[in-house]
Amino acid sequence: MSTINAPFNSRRSFLQTMAAVGVGTAATRLTAQEKIILAPPEEQAVDLTLPEPVKRKLGWAIVGLGKLAIEEILPAFAESKYSKPTALVSGHPDKAGKIADYYGIGQEHIYNYDNYDKLANDETVDVIYIVLPNSMHAEFTIRGLKAGKHVFCEKPMAGNVDECEQMIKASQETGKKLGIAYRLHYEPMNMKVMQLCKEKAFGDIKLFSSSNCQDVKAPNIRLSKELDGGPLGDIGIYSINAARYCIGQEPTEVFATAYHGDDVRFREVPQSVAYTMKYPGDVLASCECSFSTTESRRFRVVGTEGFVEMDPSFSYRGLKLFSQNAEKQLIQHSLPQVDHFASEMDDFSQCVLQNRETKTPGEMGLLDAKIIAALQKSIESGRAETV
Ligand code: NAD
Repeated sequence: MSTINAPFNSRRSFLQTMAAVGVGTAATRLTAQEKIILAPPEEQAVDLTLPEPVKRKLGWAIVGLGKLAIEEILPAFAESKYSKPTALVSGHPDKAGKIADYYGIGQEHIYNYDNYDKLANDETVDVIYIVLPNSMHAEFTIRGLKAGKHVFCEKPMAGNVDECEQMIKASQETGKKLGIAYRLHYEPMNMKVMQLCKEKAFGDIKLFSSSNCQDVKAPNIRLSKELDGGPLGDIGIYSINAARYCIGQEPTEVFATAYHGDDVRFREVPQSVAYTMKYPGDVLASCECSFSTTESRRFRVVGTEGFVEMDPSFSYRGLKLFSQNAEKQLIQHSLPQVDHFASEMDDFSQCVLQNRETKTPGEMGLLDAKIIAALQKSIESGRAETV
C-alpha cells in the first residue's frame, strides 16, 4: 500500500486520490458507501424490542422468623424482581402478626408448625423458604414438597446424609423443585472466582485454604447438638463448598481435629475445627472454622501460575477479590455488590417460572453432607477417613 501524504479536504477528494493511487476496488466500495444515507430518522429501522416485562412475581412463604429471616431475607424482597413474601410460618403468632402487617401480608396467610400443611391450599404461595434450625430442615422441606410447593432450604441442607437423601426423594416423587440456599453461587465476586478457576487462569490449582470463624454467644441454635448445630455445618460448610467451586472436584479423603475446651458454651458442639481435604491431582485443602473467635472469613486458591484470594469472602456484604497473575501483578477486581438473598431467591423463582434446574440443587447439599459426615467421623476416630 502506498503512503499518502496529501491532506484530504473532502471525502470526495479522498476517494479520487485513492482511485489515482490504484486502490480501485476500495474506491468502488467507498463510492457505493457514499450513497448510503447516514442519519435521517425516517431512514432508520424502527426496533421496538423491549425488555421482557415481569409478568408475575412468585409468592414465597418464609418458615421460621429468626435472625436471618428478619434481618436479611424479608428485607431482600425489596430488591427482588421475581419474588414477593406472601405467607409466614412461625411458632410466635404475635411476632408473625407484626411482621405480616409490616410487609403487607394478610393475617390469613400466617401459619404455625402444626397447620403448616394447609399451605397446600394457599394459592398465593409458590415457594416455601425453610429458615429453621438445621434439625428441622428435612421435616419441613418434605412436608412443604408434599403440600405441592417448591422448596428453597437454608444450608446446611440437613443434619445428616440420610435426611438429605429423603429430601431429594420427596422432590423427585412430588415433581417439585428443591434448591439449597448457597447464596454465594449467586454473588458476582464468588462467581468470578468460579469462572477464573474453571478457565485455569492460575494454572493448575494445587492448594486451597480457608477460614470461616465468628463468636457465637449463648443462647443460640448453633450451640445445640439436638438442633444439629456446630461449626462444621454452620460455617465450615462455606469452605467445603468454596473448595468444590474452586478446585472443581470432590475430596477423596479428609482429616479433622476439634476442640471443645472448658467454655460451657461448647459442651455439646466443638468450638473450633481444623480440617484438611485431599483431592485427585495432588490438590490439598486446609480449612478452619470456629465459634469462639473474632470474624475471619476468607479463602485463597493457589495454582501453578498465580493465586486468587477473597477476604472477606463469605460475608453478606463488603466482599473483596484479589488475584495475582503469572507476571506477579496483583489485581483487585471491582465488581457490583448485590443483595445475596434477593439474587438467590430471584434465580430460584426464575427456575420455577422457566422450569429449569437450579444451580444449587439438593444434590449439592447432599455432597456437602457426605463430606461433613466424613469429617465428623475423622474427629471421632482420630484418623483420616474416606468420603
Ligand atoms: P435463629 O435462631 O435466629 O432462628 C431460628 C428460628 O427457628 C427462630 O425463629 C425460632 O423461633 C425457630 N424455631 C422453631 N423451632 C425451634 C426450636 N425447636 N428451637 C429453636 N428455634 C426454633 O437462627 P438463624 O440464624 O436465623 O438460622 C436459621 C437457619 O438459617 C439455619 O439453618 C442457619 O444455618 C441458616 N443461616 C444461613 C445463613 C446464610 O448466610 N445463608 C446465615 C445465617 C443462618
